[in-house]
Amino acid sequence: MPSHSQKCAALCVALFAFGAAAVRAQNTSDKLPPILDVHVHAMDESFGDSMCPNTPKFLASDPDTKEAPFGWIQDECSPKLYPSAKGEYINDVVAEMQRLNVTAVVFGDPKSVQKWRDAAPGRVIPGTSFSEAMDGSRLPIDELRKDFTQDGFKVMGEIGLQYEGISPSDPSVDKYFALAEQLDIPVAIHMGTGGSGRANINSPNFRGSMGNPLLLEDLLARHPKLRVQVMHAGYPMIEEMLTLLQANSHVYVDVAGLIWSYPLIEVNRYIRRLVEAGFEDRVMFGTDQMGWPKLMAYSISLIQNADYLTPEQKRDILYNNAARFLRLDTARK
Ligand SMILES: [Zn+2]
Repeated sequence: MPSHSQKCAALCVALFAFGAAAVRAQNTSDKLPPILDVHVHAMDESFGDSMCPNTPKFLASDPDTKEAPFGWIQDECSPKLYPSAKGEYINDVVAEMQRLNVTAVVFGDPKSVQKWRDAAPGRVIPGTSFSEAMDGSRLPIDELRKDFTQDGFKVMGEIGLQYEGISPSDPSVDKYFALAEQLDIPVAIHMGTGGSGRANINSPNFRGSMGNPLLLEDLLARHPKLRVQVMHAGYPMIEEMLTLLQANSHVYVDVAGLIWSYPLIEVNRYIRRLVEAGFEDRVMFGTDQMGWPKLMAYSISLIQNADYLTPEQKRDILYNNAARFLRLDTARK
């Protein structure tokens, strides 16, 4: 097992190589192969402070130190990702999208998503929110219907029932999934972990058990045509995830969040397992971008430099699988 510094050194080299290629192509991004990021949040400003991607260790609580809002993770590292200056976040991320030839599904309320559409014409696929930002209450179903039928929204998400301790198969939310199935709109559901200390620090209703991918089975049985994007790929429940993918061919996963939130060796092992189990056509790239403009290049580099993926598998994960899932009218790229 490589030491911490060895892993970092390998990653830094990889990042540098990717950065250099991207800089060379800075003014010709349309010639870079396109990338689809299926998981971006329509924030106005960076959310949170600087961040150590792929933290190698989740620290135990320490009564002598102030508990961090996102749990106990290492805060000294290299590389480190930084938030934007006030007022610059959307511009910074859009500049990266243009440089790297990224189109993204951007989730949020209509006003916030419109800001992103205006800032990045042709590069934003609009996704809804599922709860009101103010109080967390559910959006009225007629409002969601209008988003899809009149306002051009393409994906329903991020459906974060796990944070409420609710199963996606709970009857109380079935009408939303019935609407999505009826309108043939894909749904994006948070399944898996929610970060270090999530349940004991800031989301007391969060339940790890409600992220079990197999909880989607009853929902899928009720709505056999529903297209489901399992956000965060149900990490770390790989056996359950593979069982669901095997039984339900409309189910895809995204690697957003997980790709930068957990130790690098573990992230690569998880993605590799999905691919080697035969599901290379259903793994989609995503970032869960919410605060750090360089996160996009960083996360792409992890796929680009994965020695267990063929060049074709990399292109499928970075573009072709999401294009098929979203039914974009595009040739294989
Ligand atoms: Zn999520």
